[in-house]
Amino acid sequence: MLLFGNMTDFSLELNEDQLQIQKWVHDFAENVMRPAAAEWDEKEETPWPIIQEAANIGLYSLDFILNSFNDPVGLTLPLVMEEMAWGDAGIGLAIFGTTLGVVGIVANGTPEQVMEWVPQCFGTPEKIQLAAFAVSEPDAGSDVSSLRTRAVYDEAKDEWVLNGTKTWITNGGIADIHVVVAAVDPALGSRGHASFVVPPNTAGLSQGQKFSKMGIRASHTAEVVLDDVRVPGSCLLGGKEKLDARLARARQGQSSKVQAAMATFEASRPAVGAQALGIARAAYEYSLDYAKERKQFGRPIIENQAIAFKLANMRMHIDAARLLVWRAAWMGKAGKPFEAGEGSMSKLFAGETAVWVTEEAIQILGGAGYVKDHPVERWHRDSKIYTIFEGTSEIQRLVISRAISGVHIK
Ligand SMILES: Cc1cc2nc3c(=O)[nH]c(=O)nc-3n(C[C@H](O)[C@H](O)[C@H](O)COP(=O)(O)OP(=O)(O)OC[C@H]3O[C@@H](n4cnc5c(N)ncnc54)[C@H](O)[C@@H]3O)c2cc1C
Repeated sequence: MLLFGNMTDFSLELNEDQLQIQKWVHDFAENVMRPAAAEWDEKEETPWPIIQEAANIGLYSLDFILNSFNDPVGLTLPLVMEEMAWGDAGIGLAIFGTTLGVVGIVANGTPEQVMEWVPQCFGTPEKIQLAAFAVSEPDAGSDVSSLRTRAVYDEAKDEWVLNGTKTWITNGGIADIHVVVAAVDPALGSRGHASFVVPPNTAGLSQGQKFSKMGIRASHTAEVVLDDVRVPGSCLLGGKEKLDARLARARQGQSSKVQAAMATFEASRPAVGAQALGIARAAYEYSLDYAKERKQFGRPIIENQAIAFKLANMRMHIDAARLLVWRAAWMGKAGKPFEAGEGSMSKLFAGETAVWVTEEAIQILGGAGYVKDHPVERWHRDSKIYTIFEGTSEIQRLVISRAISGVHIK
């Protein structure tokens, strides 16, 4: 009698395709990104030559992202993100910051809009393009419901007019495609929001301040100023009919399933967690090697439990984070609802693991960990953003606690 059916149904083993992609991205991370990491961190500029190399080999391309998205079990994207961030998180974000804009289009757009705009997010190796996803504002960070950027419909011209200032935007102002979330009906809070594509070279969109950052310094972060930006009606993601129906439901007090910014963040959280995981793994591997080499008191420092146990804990947290990331990525792909905030769990745990593991790595290296001769101080600086962007750790805990309790925890 067969009690358990087909025992091979569940497996954590990667398939041939996944292993091949993982190796290909790892080679790029090791041979191209790592050697360039310190330089671009120091310069704090967009690493165009590295993005160009990624485009030349097809890593920065629509095809590659489509392939990654199309993995039926959902693991390819996290695998890619982990390897890229293992190479360098700042350069990784400079290359794949575009995917936030892409996810914004895919999560909210019609199939026609996806076909029209997503290829333009990448451009071609001959003419590379970038995308940005602009939600945050000076007075609306965690509290996305209080966006001030307004979108007003000009019926006579079938155009939307956008006004406002976005802040902390990855690729802001240097992107060719900006996906902007704006309030159509501010009285409805986040239920009155909609997403718009702002096409390349649209008048009125400009870059404000570029921020100087603690970490991920190769990734460009800036304000985006929208001054009477006019976009055709067709740039409203999802279309006007759907928006009007959604607004009508919200005005009648009915709940709405999709909130523009939230849909994007939910879908992208496991991939962001995977980036944090990549940084943590880099720091763990480096400090493990160091601990075996470095001798004090006549023996390698790893022979002390104080150091070896740190490494055991680091490895355990990294593996646990990966399992959470893979679970959330699989659930997202399989269309399973995140009933306990599983997307948030993955990003929260991986982000905090990265901060903690990189700090432990500095401790294991001692003075060498604190100076720029070794990459661990950079990895620690890079890791910190993962408890802040795409929803702070506090906000992730709110999402999880609300999901598990049904109580509107504040
Ligand atoms: C490098 C970088 C890149 C970014 N890229 C983008 C991007 O591409 N697109 C985009 O739209 N945004 C982007 N952001 C913005 C990012 O998502 C926000 O910084 C983040 O959501 C937090 O908002 P805030 O900075 O305004 O912090 P605040 O919301 O002001 O939070 C400050 C503190 O208060 C806590 N807090 C706030 N509300 C609560 C609450 N209800 N309960 C408990 N604690 C609370 C927070 O957790 C945090 O610790 C980026 C930010 C950075 C730094």
